[in-house]
Amino acid sequence: MHTIEMSAQEQEQAIETARQVAAEFSKLGPQADKDNTFAYPSAAIMKDSGLVGLSVPKEFGGMGADIWTTCKVAAELSRGDPGIALAYNMHYIMVGILNGSFTDDQRKEWLPRIADGDILCGTFSEERGFGGLADTKAVPQPGGGWKLYGKKMWGTLSEVSDIWSGSATITDADGNLPTDFEARVAAESNFIVALDAPGTAPGLEIRKTWDAMGMKATGTHTLVFDGFYVPEDGYCGEMRGGVFASLEWASLLFASVYWGLAIRCYEETRAILRTKHTGPIFSADVGADLKARDIGYIQDGVGEIAYRNELTRRVIQATCRQLIEGDDDDWDPSMRPALIGMAKVFSTENAAHVTHKAMRLVGGASYRRGHVLEKLYRDAAAGPFQPLTEDQTYMYMGRLELGTGQDDDE
Ligand SMILES: Cc1cc2nc3c(=O)[nH]c(=O)nc-3n(C[C@H](O)[C@H](O)[C@H](O)COP(=O)(O)OP(=O)(O)OC[C@H]3O[C@@H](n4cnc5c(N)ncnc54)[C@H](O)[C@@H]3O)c2cc1C
Repeated sequence: MHTIEMSAQEQEQAIETARQVAAEFSKLGPQADKDNTFAYPSAAIMKDSGLVGLSVPKEFGGMGADIWTTCKVAAELSRGDPGIALAYNMHYIMVGILNGSFTDDQRKEWLPRIADGDILCGTFSEERGFGGLADTKAVPQPGGGWKLYGKKMWGTLSEVSDIWSGSATITDADGNLPTDFEARVAAESNFIVALDAPGTAPGLEIRKTWDAMGMKATGTHTLVFDGFYVPEDGYCGEMRGGVFASLEWASLLFASVYWGLAIRCYEETRAILRTKHTGPIFSADVGADLKARDIGYIQDGVGEIAYRNELTRRVIQATCRQLIEGDDDDWDPSMRPALIGMAKVFSTENAAHVTHKAMRLVGGASYRRGHVLEKLYRDAAAGPFQPLTEDQTYMYMGRLELGTGQDDDE
């Protein structure tokens, strides 16, 4: 499942390209954050860089990046700007998940297009979150295919997407959802559709509702479907089975965006604290002219951030390596999502911790709007909401350890 196609040199080249793209993202990100808008020029930058086809296998014209290389690219992009990186991360997540559930014909149809630069969004979450079974209906059409009706609340990247993918529940011919729970789970399906132009197709409306604390450049708007047509060959299999079978592409890529955010936080904090002088002060540390870097707790704090970020890298890298080496074959299948999700939980918690810590070390200036740490702190706050959440991960693990649902003598 996780084969290595790239040479070490090709991997390094992809990461170097990501660094160059990240430099452009870092110029766009603060303004997009200020204006609460998607960073539109980022789409051409991504397409020109070739990184849209990063994880498409070589036989379909892509770069053939494995999961660890893709994670490192995601982290580099996030060092440039976490909001813009999280948007394109959704593309990488969907390429990984759909590649796992495509038929051979679908692989031949979609992967070369993506390798050529077609951007993909992935919309699952509705009003009832990611856990709620899709209330969006896929109503079978007499001539074949489905028409979609409903609303996706979290449409990251949708405005520049050439391809839509996401979930809907197949109904009967009259548009009635299955009433039986198991039948409803089985009817919840993934679909993929080429759009007429980025974010544009009959029966699809993007409502610009995104107004959040951080991650503003993701452009996570609401998608409204009113008769949006999905042809027969746009069916990509059962939704939960498909997503959970390839959950690593979500968990580890989310983890990598927040890892990149934490590295950026460290780099900015270190740069500030290396040169900061207090001038004459009278506070916990008294001095005629104190250098911030000579204060003990600042040394400890910077060390702690470096230490935690390095641990985060190790957790993501080790999890990728476990998958590449097939260690997961020996895992209890019901624990697989949580065992992979651990890396995401670790990384998102780390990002929240280090941004908070960095602000304390740098001082009150970092609390002002427009300060680089103020933005990173707000962006980091989005981490817990992407699946699997901390609570879900802990609960799955705790449930299995406690034997919840089993008889006492089992
Ligand atoms: C910046 C950003 C971008 C996003 N982009 C996208 C996107 O492109 N596509 C997309 O589909 N979604 C996207 N999402 C949505 C995200 O994945 C969640 O669906 C969304 O945050 C709502 O989920 P929730 O867990 O907060 O809400 P709910 O699902 O309502 O959860 C509420 C509470 O119940 C808990 N809970 C829910 N389900 C379970 C369960 N099965 N077991 C145990 N506990 C559970 C949750 O942990 C939480 O505490 C994005 C979110 C953010 C913040």
